[in-house]
Amino acid sequence: MKKQFAIIGLGRFGSSICRELYHMGHEVLAIDKDEKKIEHIADFATHTLLADGTDEAALTKIGIRNFNHVIVAIAEDIQASILCTLHLKDMGIPKVWVKAQNHYHHKVLEKIGADKIFHPEHDMGNRIAQFLTSEKVIDYIDLSADYSIVEILGTPKISGKTLIELNVRARFGCTILAIKQNGKVNITPEPDIPLNAGDVFIIIGSKQDLRRFQEEAL
Ligand code: ADP
Repeated sequence: MKKQFAIIGLGRFGSSICRELYHMGHEVLAIDKDEKKIEHIADFATHTLLADGTDEAALTKIGIRNFNHVIVAIAEDIQASILCTLHLKDMGIPKVWVKAQNHYHHKVLEKIGADKIFHPEHDMGNRIAQFLTSEKVIDYIDLSADYSIVEILGTPKISGKTLIELNVRARFGCTILAIKQNGKVNITPEPDIPLNAGDVFIIIGSKQDLRRFQEEAL
């Protein structure tokens, strides 16, 4: 279903979101106070607008109230990001998602009602660290400081073994959510089917337990 989004701030983060949403066929209003940024995004947004996101009157005039979902991607100018978020929440926008620059920025955004707060550099840094430290990790989702979901490649070590033999929950305290075999995702893998090198495990657990599983079982 086609949805409507407004994005305020077209730096690297805001413009990437804008391009992707537009590419997915959604209606996207791209806003920045820098004319050059507006020119660059023009072919990748439904509408563009040169405006200051801290200017309440300007936001009202463009009918930002009609948007159900607004992304504030002004991060460097923390004051502007906070003020803009405050206006949007005061106007009753149901979903205001904001990029935070640091921990203090995050805390203030939380207090003023931001519905989701992003730390893209921090999250990407964590993901890259995971990839760097294990060649088996294919993908990785951080659930909290302690828990994640990882997609891990099975090595020849598991060849011919079954899930019963791996006994992942009892030995490592992790849960297998799905197994990808020959490109097919199986969310209810049989406990007694033989596993092969190259099978991919999608598994949830604490970071410590997941590391043990990778090192000892695969
Ligand atoms: P990134 O790290 O994603 O590149 P930046 O903080 O560098 O993020 O980019 C922020 C963008 O937000 C810039 O394009 C800047 O012109 C824009 N911007 C900054 N302040 C405002 C504001 N008050 N209103 C609208 N756009 C703004």
